[in-house]
Amino acid sequence: MRVREGGSEVCRQGNYVTSKRHTNITMSTEKREIVVLGAGVIGLQTALTLLESGYSVTIVAKYWPGDEHIDYTSPRYLIPSTYIWDHPTPETANSGASIWWSTLVPTFTPLTHPHPLLPATAHFGISYKSFSLNPQKYLTYLLSRSADHGVKTHTHEVDSLAEVFEHVPDAVGVVNCTGLGAIDLVGPVEADKLFPTRGQTILVRGEAEMARLRVGEGYIAYVIRRPGDGTILGGCKVDGDWNAEVDKELSKVIVERCKILAPELLVDGEFEVISEQVGRRPSRKGGPRIEVEWKEVEGRKRFICHHYGHSGAGYQSSVGSAREAVALIQRELEKQQ
Ligand SMILES: Cc1cc2nc3c(=O)[nH]c(=O)nc-3n(C[C@H](O)[C@H](O)[C@H](O)COP(=O)(O)OP(=O)(O)OC[C@H]3O[C@@H](n4cnc5c(N)ncnc54)[C@H](O)[C@@H]3O)c2cc1C
Repeated sequence: MRVREGGSEVCRQGNYVTSKRHTNITMSTEKREIVVLGAGVIGLQTALTLLESGYSVTIVAKYWPGDEHIDYTSPRYLIPSTYIWDHPTPETANSGASIWWSTLVPTFTPLTHPHPLLPATAHFGISYKSFSLNPQKYLTYLLSRSADHGVKTHTHEVDSLAEVFEHVPDAVGVVNCTGLGAIDLVGPVEADKLFPTRGQTILVRGEAEMARLRVGEGYIAYVIRRPGDGTILGGCKVDGDWNAEVDKELSKVIVERCKILAPELLVDGEFEVISEQVGRRPSRKGGPRIEVEWKEVEGRKRFICHHYGHSGAGYQSSVGSAREAVALIQRELEKQQ
């Protein structure tokens, strides 16, 4: 088990400080202990849902809220709220009524020509009310909620799922919330289903009046305000691309496409760029994996609940997905009694 240098301090950001020294693990005699491996939005939400369901939880992870690394997807992105299509697609049929979430968001309104929110060259659009969140603040908030429930935290990179039980020997199981990191932790058949969907974004100064997303032939472009920090310009979705470097030519293309989406942020015709970043959506053939298997580890039967592969929807699906994973764990534990 590799321990990060200076790994005793787990997370300190804003007003939230979580546990700092982890050499002694206090085992609860009343609650069943479960390890959550991973501290992205999926791991943090799963930990919180387990704690709220009455379990004792230890989170083991290499990266934490406040860390920035290409192998840590969650700190990177937000949620759009206005869509524009350049060409007809199955989604634009029936004035957008076939979009699965059309009845779930407030003020869902089709945009047809002429409309001030619909560019002259666009085919169709929709407007609706949604929310956007600042990922770093949200992750820190999730961790602080878990801290309120007494979560324990360890900073480690593990080489196998069984390895977490060396540090939390009394745990009845582990929830594998490692995103793309699961490639190195699951068997070859499951590992083959995982792939990155590369995204590249640019953070610019100022908060856009509206979140806007435009889909055209072979491209997507979006502007989404990041509350308190500026506005994110995007983007791209390239399956199977592991490149962690910023593609400067692509950045120029993204900037040009986004000028029409957020003209209110332009100063002398240009955005004020703060930073450029690359992220890897943790994609999986067949969608997210929520599945339990039982394994004998160090003389004891333990469950492994896989909970990864949320691709470009980890935030929006985190609460429901965590509930499903925890319900599955509860059913599996009941079967064992
Ligand atoms: C450009 C872009 C735009 C996006 N837009 C949206 C959006 O609009 N809406 C939305 O809902 N989602 C969006 N997403 C997707 C969202 O960011 C991801 O689905 C989500 O962050 C995945 O979270 P995760 O917890 O599964 O993985 P991660 O955040 O990658 O967390 C993995 C955790 O596991 C740990 N880990 C992995 N392997 C090991 C190991 N061997 N040992 C110890 N720890 C390990 C890591 O350290 C980390 O703590 C976007 C993503 C990108 C890149």
